[in-house]
Amino acid sequence: MRQKIVAGNWKMNKTLEEANILASEITGMVADEVKGDVKIIFCVPFPYLLPIKNQLGNNTRISVGAQNCSEHESGAYTGETSAAMLKSLGVPYVILGHSERRQYFGEDAALLTKKTDIALKHGLTPIFCCGEPLEVRESNGHEALVKKQVEESLFHLDADTIKKIIIAYEPVWAIGTGKTASAQQAQDMHAVIRKHLASKYGQAVADSIAILYGGSVNAANAKELFACPDVDGGLVGGASLKSREFAEVIKGA
Ligand code: PEP
Repeated sequence: MRQKIVAGNWKMNKTLEEANILASEITGMVADEVKGDVKIIFCVPFPYLLPIKNQLGNNTRISVGAQNCSEHESGAYTGETSAAMLKSLGVPYVILGHSERRQYFGEDAALLTKKTDIALKHGLTPIFCCGEPLEVRESNGHEALVKKQVEESLFHLDADTIKKIIIAYEPVWAIGTGKTASAQQAQDMHAVIRKHLASKYGQAVADSIAILYGGSVNAANAKELFACPDVDGGLVGGASLKSREFAEVIKGA
């Protein structure tokens, strides 16, 4: 039985004051209203990692995550943040390969392989994103593309290591668009990803890996999406910026 995970991707939003309020409101709602053992992750902008982590204190249900890290160990890379730095802050998770990073910052499979390796080397858990753009879905190439994305950046890992990865399937056409994949579309793709993992690592390993759905998850659709057998929770953008909405998404898990 895989644990449900709901991660909020705050992207480049909020002042520090707003971020503190958001985190504290969600934390309160979770404490009062959320039963069961869903794991919650706030993937916040770099400058807020430490303040929000400190605010969470020894909260065992909610952790912080970063939204990216450098592929380099350290050195003259102005503006970058290393996996070792994140580890030294006590940050357990890092999103890698988000479609916005792939699209606006040219992140490709080779780069994401390096980022995955360095994150794992420093003991971080990557939340590895994959997903197809609209034209690929429309030409029915979505399964092949997503399998390729997973394979190219993750299949060099051994079985014990790939178990440490969280995969997020995020169809690009559903991100920030208000268009959500139907529960059936999400389940179908998650099953394809799990089957692909099983073909390389065996069913037991594939069954142990969390696969999150991302793409316009909200309070109204979370429950149906998260009820799919291969959907282990969500990576949530817009709806994670509103405390009541995000609390309802978490309750959907
Ligand atoms: C995301 O960017 O990871 C995401 C899923 O965004 P949204 O929920 O806003 O579609």
